[in-house]
This record gives sequence, C-alpha cells and structure tokens, in this order.
Amino acid sequence: MPDPYEALDRLMCLDLAGRGIGRLYDAARTRLGTPLSRAAAECFSRVPPGSFVLIGTGWLTRGWVSTRLAENDGPPGAATVARALWLARDVTPVVVAEDSILAALAPVFRASGLSVLTLEEARRTRLPGGKTAAVVLEGFPTDDAEAGRAADRLLDDIQPALCFATERASRARSGVYHNARGVDIGAGQARVDLLFEAAALRGIPTIGVGDGGNEIGMGLIADTVASSVRFGDRCACGCGSGVGASTATDILVAANCGNWGCYAAVAAFAIAERDPRLLHTPEREDQLLRAATSAGLLNSPRGTVDPNVDDIPLSTHLAMVELMREVAVRAIAQG
Ligand SMILES: [Zn+2]
Repeated sequence: MPDPYEALDRLMCLDLAGRGIGRLYDAARTRLGTPLSRAAAECFSRVPPGSFVLIGTGWLTRGWVSTRLAENDGPPGAATVARALWLARDVTPVVVAEDSILAALAPVFRASGLSVLTLEEARRTRLPGGKTAAVVLEGFPTDDAEAGRAADRLLDDIQPALCFATERASRARSGVYHNARGVDIGAGQARVDLLFEAAALRGIPTIGVGDGGNEIGMGLIADTVASSVRFGDRCACGCGSGVGASTATDILVAANCGNWGCYAAVAAFAIAERDPRLLHTPEREDQLLRAATSAGLLNSPRGTVDPNVDDIPLSTHLAMVELMREVAVRAIAQG
C-alpha cells in the first residue's frame, strides 16, 4: 500500500462540493513538508499522559438570528479527537466555546463516550477510584478585553499540553470575524482565537483544522487564502480586509469538511500509535451525527437540523469514516 498518511490526506480532501480545498491543502502541505494527517498525529503523540488539552470548536452559523444556533461541522470531529486523546494518553480535554452553545455541544461529546464535567469535577477523576472518561466544557468570553484575561487565567490553571481547534472562527487582519459569504459574524462570538494566540506565545503547540479559510489555523497560509478563496481578498462587510483568518497554528489541517480533517488526524494517530482502539468507526459517526441532530446543530448550508454535514449526506460521512478506518487498519496490520 502507498503511504497511508498520503491516502488519509487524499480522502479528507475529496472535493465533493468543488470548493477548491486542493489549493489550501497544497499550501499547507508545502508549508509543513509532510502529510497533514501525519503532522497532526505526531503532535498528538507528543502529548504527555494525564495532561489537559484545550479544544476549540463550535461555529455560530447564524449569530444574527440567535447565538444558540451552531453548525454540525466541528463538534463531531472535536469529540473524536477528544476520545482518542483520552484513550491514548488519559487526557482531559477542555472544550471552549460560547456559553450560548455549550448545551448543544454536550450531547455530541457524550456520544463519543465521555462524561461532561466541570473543571473541578474533572480534577476529582484523578483521585483513586475516580477514573472517568471526561471532557470539560467551558464558556469563553465574547468581549476582547475579557477574553484576554480569561485566556491567561485558563492557560495558567490547566497548562494545556496542546491546543486544538476545528471549525472555530478567527478574526481577519482587520479584526473582524467573517463567514464564507464575507459577512461580519463577530456579535456573540467567543474570542477563542485570542486564546490560541496567547497559547502560541507561551510556546504551547497548536493545531487548526478548517475547510474554508476563515478558521483558526488558516493564518498559516494567509496569502493563499487571500488569492484563492471567495471574498479572500475583499469581504462584503466593508472592513477593508478579506475573510481569511489571521490566527495561525503550528499545524494546519485543510480538509473538504472540518470533521474529515479530524477523522484523518485520528486515523493517522492510530497508525502512529499502532492502536486500533483509537479509530473512529461508522457506528460512532452515526451516533455523533444523530446526537448533533437531537441537540439542534445545523446542517449549515441548508439551515436545517439534520445529520447531513456541509450538505453532504450522512451515508457519505459513514462511508468516508469507513475508508479512513480501512486505510489505518491495513497500515497497522502491516506494521
Ligand atoms: Zn470585513
């Protein structure tokens, strides 16, 4: 079999919608010099056992309607990464997002097999007999000044070994957060990008996953986003910049769908660790997407609550997870 990491990268970049993910992928690949799934996996492998890992996810898809509406691309991928890091490294993932969507995110993380706890409760899982597969969900401020202080507090408190973002908005060069249609979506937006920038200044490794160019991490290939994405050089809000993210991460995973980028990274991690327990499965994908549906997360292009993600049918997501699993199972078997 050819390099399994290359195969995973190719699968995650299957450009069903014809949005041109290949250009973003190529730029990230040139920058990192290795398959992106492998780069993310190597970063996971360096996480020390028992540490905290920060995870940013959740996209307010229609914040001008309600800040309780978020999309279903992001949280299932984040939950899959959280589960794998817990299994492989006994990590406690701490997920940051808007207070307004934590209730919708919780069932998705539970569907990955983790209990949703407070930070204080999660620390008790370290006590004898307290061993619990758990994730912490934390609201993060939507105001810049408050977010700066909250970032320092949280980083001091949990000292994360890694910061991982998937489908999480980053401001553009102008300071405005944009959606893919170039509209200002800053209202009610948790300033998680500031948290990632504070983490990077402390030398904490960072990974970003995205599919459009406006997500945390895409700052790594800002020039390519500006030249190749719709509204990349000029938004529609009049702020004077394009929609591209200004926040860079050490590792960037550009994929056709944020969830696929996460699944490829987890499959690569399973290969690197030679541990098939870490692999995502179609059965769990089905559970995650149904949990997301029950929680009211949106299939964003349509604005409907259904288990299709980025308007790609559920059955295609199940098939993609199976293909990635097959690549990893064979690679692990062949050593
Ligand atoms: Zn703008």
